[in-house]
Amino acid sequence: MKKALITGLTGQDGSYLAELLLEQGYQVFGLVRRSSSGNADRISHLSGTVEILSGDLLDQCSLMDAVSYAQPDEIYNLASQSYVPLSWTQPALTAEYTALGVSRLLESIRRCKSDARFYQASSSEVFGQPDESPQTERTAFRPRNPYGVAKAYAHWMTINYRQQYGLYSCCGVTYTHESPRRGTEFVFRKITRGAALIKMGLAKELKLGNLDAKRDWCYAKDAVRAMWMMLQQEQPDDYIIASGETHSVRELVQTAFDCVGLNWEEYVSVDPNFYRPDEAVQLVGSIDKIRRQLNWEPQYPFKQLVELMVDHDLKELSEAQ
Ligand code: NAP
Repeated sequence: MKKALITGLTGQDGSYLAELLLEQGYQVFGLVRRSSSGNADRISHLSGTVEILSGDLLDQCSLMDAVSYAQPDEIYNLASQSYVPLSWTQPALTAEYTALGVSRLLESIRRCKSDARFYQASSSEVFGQPDESPQTERTAFRPRNPYGVAKAYAHWMTINYRQQYGLYSCCGVTYTHESPRRGTEFVFRKITRGAALIKMGLAKELKLGNLDAKRDWCYAKDAVRAMWMMLQQEQPDDYIIASGETHSVRELVQTAFDCVGLNWEEYVSVDPNFYRPDEAVQLVGSIDKIRRQLNWEPQYPFKQLVELMVDHDLKELSEAQ
């Protein structure tokens, strides 16, 4: 039986990846940091199937203990401070989690289980304002926010440990990916939730930032499948994980409100406070390499993903009433 250790188990991707690995017959360990108010909403259904290890990316000893104890064949680092706007208000903490946390984890692997295969959750935010579109695995990094800078550091450390120490360590550069487990602070879920709230008479309006902003969105379940496929290759390599297409926020709003049978223009207002201080533009990933080498394709098109999330939000809200 293969063993896997997931950091960020309580997050969107960690919870889906754990499900996928359990389906594949893995023994799964999840690193979880202590929370006084509880952070297990996304993993309560996994209770008894995943072994929880207490640890924190800020704490070297806890990472070494987790790797030593689990002796995993595969390690997926999905933990990070993952919200870009917060990285402007807490830039140093973002660097501690998202950049230096990866150094701590790589050192733990090198010292405690150097033959483990390592996946690092890199991000399209490393490209910032890219000078080409779509971006490929060779596009220059020009991060434009503290989160992107921290992810760029982590990306290069992962590659450096591969080159210097021969670790099987690789980066998946994911673009925005969504699901019903996504936080409502992220625009996609904010919109699907907002449309459902308005439909149910629980809200009157939805305030958004730049409706013309475009994003490359895919489904989190597609993304975690790509992560797993990356670690099944003979040689470690880095890949872009994306849908390969962009849609505007306006298109997303329209699709979500169509799902609930409402005219979005009657409910949506634009609030410049929601504009990102540093809006990244034209981020769209080329999936040529991952398609060619791993035979991976996203399976959920944009419209289907919007429908899935609106349906989920409607159901969740009506159950809560
Ligand atoms: P998420 O839902 O925000 O989950 C982040 C996870 O990291 C949570 O489990 C959180 O634990 C954990 N964490 C935060 N700080 C930690 C620390 N100091 N020590 C240990 N664990 C810590 O993120 P996600 O959407 O699943 O994303 C997974 C990874 O992909 C992240 O690295 C993210 O930056 C990256 N990424 C995501 C996207 C996307 O669209 N989702 C796109 C590009 C890259 P708590 O529950 O305790 O907070």
